Amino acid sequence: PLVLGIETSCDETGIGIVRGHTLLANTIASSMEEHARFGGVVPEVASRAHLEAMTPTIETALAGAGVKLSDIDAIAVTAGPGLAGALLVGVAAAKAYSLGLGVPLYGVNHLAAHVAVDQLEHGPLPKPCIALLVSGGHSSLLLVPDVAQDVISLGSTVDDAAGEAFDKVARVLGLPFPGGPHIDKAAVSGDGAAIGFPRGKIDDGTFDFSFSGLKTAVARWVEAKEASGASIHVPDVAASFQEAVVDVLTRKALQACKRYDVHDLLIGGGVAANSRLRALAQERCDQAGVRLRVPRPGLCTDNGAMVATLGSDLVAAGVAPSSLEIPADSSLPITTVHV
Ligand code: ATP
Ligand code: MG
Ligand code: FE
Repeated sequence: PLVLGIETSCDETGIGIVRGHTLLANTIASSMEEHARFGGVVPEVASRAHLEAMTPTIETALAGAGVKLSDIDAIAVTAGPGLAGALLVGVAAAKAYSLGLGVPLYGVNHLAAHVAVDQLEHGPLPKPCIALLVSGGHSSLLLVPDVAQDVISLGSTVDDAAGEAFDKVARVLGLPFPGGPHIDKAAVSGDGAAIGFPRGKIDDGTFDFSFSGLKTAVARWVEAKEASGASIHVPDVAASFQEAVVDVLTRKALQACKRYDVHDLLIGGGVAANSRLRALAQERCDQAGVRLRVPRPGLCTDNGAMVATLGSDLVAAGVAPSSLEIPADSSLPITTVHV
């Protein structure tokens, strides 16, 4: 089926078009520039930007895919989780297109879509697989028997999400928002072993994460240096912080593979774009005999193709379409793959 996916959970208006697992278009209009000076996404600004970007972004995606609106077989949309007002714009648009075109609507879970998108690059997901989902708002370890039907949560962060920790530490280091990519870049010329930052919950026997202690430790370390008049080598701090995050993430992910006797690990979400996470995960997977799948960075951060991919899986699985009454649910749980 030819599926158009609409993503508006945060600041990206993402429109993706897929046929099965073949990517035809992935167009993104971001309002990040408008938010950057506030150091975070401003919900009202994001909603308005989605409203303005929706029609032109759909037109650009259709042109890029070389298809007409009337060719579309189904509409998929992020129904949650995310910013309520931002989600609402996407859901309302999706309902209008579904009704206008007379094609089925599929309201999908944004987090499950972060997992499903890898299939565009690496083919059908092994059933089951373990998924490490690390993004701006979430950090979870998932057992995924079938991304279109059944996702089981093994653990998640008890405080900050991994991406949130990257963004907050970047701010402490005077790097621009969103900080993840800037820390990644700065860390390349730093030494990850320079400073021994804490690894929260690393061997506590759960699949939960905690990053707020780490964030505080970095802030304290920087404050202490500044107070003593010493200069701070940003690359070393960035690399040492990043090492602490990816050490815990990869260690727990491989523990989950072992515990559930699963030999395929997928990493998804914006933080999966991190170069050190990708490298360390590959190293540890090789040691453990686990196959690793990580989508290319452009498919890790929010986009419409991920939504279209999950929609396409739902159509293929014969799942009943969503009602035109579905709400946008800002706190949709990861275990609810579609609404
Ligand atoms: P969620 O999916 O939980 O709703 P989100 O939609 O805001 O969150 P994503 O686009 O999936 O987020 O991810 C954005 C996050 O990924 C930001 O916190 C950003 O700093 C982080 N990020 C992006 N690239 C990198 C990178 N190279 N290294 C580390 N973090 C990164
Ligand atoms: Mg974003
Ligand atoms: Fe996301």
